Amino acid sequence: MDTSTDTKVWRCAVPTPLRRLFDYRPLEDWQGTVVPGMRVIVPFGRRSVTAIVVREALDSAIPPDQLRSVSSVLDRHPLYPRPLLALLQWAADYYQHPVGEVLPLGLSPGERQGKPERSVADTGLTLTERGRGLPQGAPHNARKQAELIQQLQAGPLSVDLLKKAGFKPGVMRALLDKALVTTCALQSQRDWQALPHSVSANNEQKGAISSIQDSLGQFCVHLLYGVTGSGKTEVYLQSIAACLARGEQALLLLPEISLTPQTLARFEARFSAPVLILHSGMGDVERDKTWAAARKGEAAVILGTRSAVFAPLLKPGLIIVDEEHDPAFVQQDGFRYSARDVAIKRGQLERCTVVLGSATPSLESWQNAEQGRYQRHTLSQRAGPGTLPRKHLIDISGLSLSAGLSEELVSQLDTVLASGQQALIFLNRRGFANALMCHDCGWSADCSECDARMTLHKTPPELHCHHCGRRSRLPATCAHCGSQHLVGTGIGTQQTEAFLRARFSDYPVLRVDSDTMANRSAMPALIKRLSSGEPLLMIGTQMLSKGHHFPDVTLVAIVDADALLFSPDFRGEERLLQLVTQVAGRAGREAKSGEVFIQTRQPGHRLIAQLDAPYHQLLPDLLAQRRQAGLPPHGALGVMRCDSHNKLEGLKFLNHVKTHAVSSASCRMIGPVMAAMARRKNRYRCHLIVAAPQRGTVAKAMKALVECAESTRHSSKLNWSVDIDPYESL
Ligand code: ADP
Ligand code: ZN
Ligand code: ZN
Repeated sequence: MDTSTDTKVWRCAVPTPLRRLFDYRPLEDWQGTVVPGMRVIVPFGRRSVTAIVVREALDSAIPPDQLRSVSSVLDRHPLYPRPLLALLQWAADYYQHPVGEVLPLGLSPGERQGKPERSVADTGLTLTERGRGLPQGAPHNARKQAELIQQLQAGPLSVDLLKKAGFKPGVMRALLDKALVTTCALQSQRDWQALPHSVSANNEQKGAISSIQDSLGQFCVHLLYGVTGSGKTEVYLQSIAACLARGEQALLLLPEISLTPQTLARFEARFSAPVLILHSGMGDVERDKTWAAARKGEAAVILGTRSAVFAPLLKPGLIIVDEEHDPAFVQQDGFRYSARDVAIKRGQLERCTVVLGSATPSLESWQNAEQGRYQRHTLSQRAGPGTLPRKHLIDISGLSLSAGLSEELVSQLDTVLASGQQALIFLNRRGFANALMCHDCGWSADCSECDARMTLHKTPPELHCHHCGRRSRLPATCAHCGSQHLVGTGIGTQQTEAFLRARFSDYPVLRVDSDTMANRSAMPALIKRLSSGEPLLMIGTQMLSKGHHFPDVTLVAIVDADALLFSPDFRGEERLLQLVTQVAGRAGREAKSGEVFIQTRQPGHRLIAQLDAPYHQLLPDLLAQRRQAGLPPHGALGVMRCDSHNKLEGLKFLNHVKTHAVSSASCRMIGPVMAAMARRKNRYRCHLIVAAPQRGTVAKAMKALVECAESTRHSSKLNWSVDIDPYESL
């Protein structure tokens, strides 16, 4: 039987994990045209949901009498600029994620719930005829009200601004009630301008800026490879100025950690134009407003984290990804995507310029520059007075260490503090000790939910699982043999901190890890403390490696380089090189020169022995290794992941999918195998890897796996997901 009909339907993306579109009968007596991207309310099961019309069609496979109708149309004019809708559809297809879950990423939180676009016009207050006629200093019995009247004499002012200036809503309401003031819409400022500044770009910066400027108005990707402190941000600022001069908007993506008020202040000081911030820690209302301002072209510059890559822009001219190598740009759960890669696709669809900046570019981007797909610009010198630090290896094999530190390193710290300077000590393990073990029988305190040891914390004394977040009290005795002789093994930041506090009791010792920096205000407070310039020690995890300026740090120590070297991840060596270069880059950024000390038991290791060389000199070697192994950027990967309550169900499921998927693509399939940590939060995890020289081949094979997985019955306790270009270790 032929089920197709000539009935007109609206094909919609509905927010569900099903990988398909849903057909609905158009809204009754709908007159307008159907524009892709319109939001509609539709019945779905027993609920009403906000869906997005993707297109109109005549070929529905659903018999007409079974079609349900759209309940209402929310927008006549879609909230999606065309290229953004195309980008989201591309992303759903490329990452093989349900389109109904991807399209809402182009909307603000309120818009996803079906609310109207928020008005961006700032509400202002202005004096009425009566208000203007008041005598000086009136009303005399209300000082704050009189002050507000005074302020408004010069013209209308924004309510938000007045609130910030300390006027309580009650004061404003009182004047509104007396009809002395009234509300008005404020015009936003449209003539965007760069403000005068005192930095004159050096020759390398000039070269990069003029090349970026010349490419504005077309799709072109630049890789800005600039050593730490070489003035990349200055290049961004001057390129953004050129973009704004064309009347176009600029989007700058940053890893979460760099989005401090300092960054915003630095940008605001350079432009007489609205600079807005977008990150996940903001309230929904604020995000709704920023989203609308970006879409209407009212926001000139947007600084945002990963998800801001999907912010709607009226006239995008420049997209910058700062610290493009940073893993924070990769979303690792739910919809797995790389914001850097999406940014490049966006540049192509919007026909605008993309700049990737880093002191330690990823191998992927480096390779693209080598092959001429990206234009590379190098900033080889520090821009300010600072010089790049010198690196020294300390061979610790066979030495006795105090909380992980060699005597040589401790005496270097002594010298630095005595000469009034600051030092930074890098140890990528938080907590006090890696594990709590029984000295008599070897028992260790393990997490009951994960295949992992609990980490010992001392402040307060507790065991934490760093994988599921579970916490428990310290046991007094061994659960296996009852011995009281329990010892912590493997050194964490708290232990080194305790040692340093005892050894250098005259100086402040500051610990910087996610335990001490959980609060948003902690990092700004730390930076303020450091700017006093007093001699002190900082001990911390990779948090310290990210973009911050620590102007008075002259010594950087890397306590355990070997821990990074022998990680099971195929990106381990690349990450080690990036971390060492970034951490070292914190030293000697001002007039004082810096030194870096690297402790290792492998001074002869190929990579360790060459750590003093500039970052890019080691890349050909790493790229050659990847080529040999057929790993990215030479070759592509895709992964189907599975987790389940039952130990074997996931493996069985993936095995079934592997054998029954029908595909013409010839790929290497690895697995299915259990994940390196098989059990996490009491769920068993396994995966199936697909590898091939070409991305297209991997995509085809993955599509076949997905199709098979969708039609395979499984228990409700099993989840499966797709990861294209996986970043997480396998
Ligand atoms: P990066 O982003 O590469 O780490 P920044 O742009 O933050 O570097 O610059 C590092 C420091 O050098 C900043 O204090 C900046 O003001 C300064 N700087 C940048 N460019 C110049 C220049 N051309 N001349 C003098 N100082 C500069
Ligand atoms: Zn024991
Ligand atoms: Zn756990």
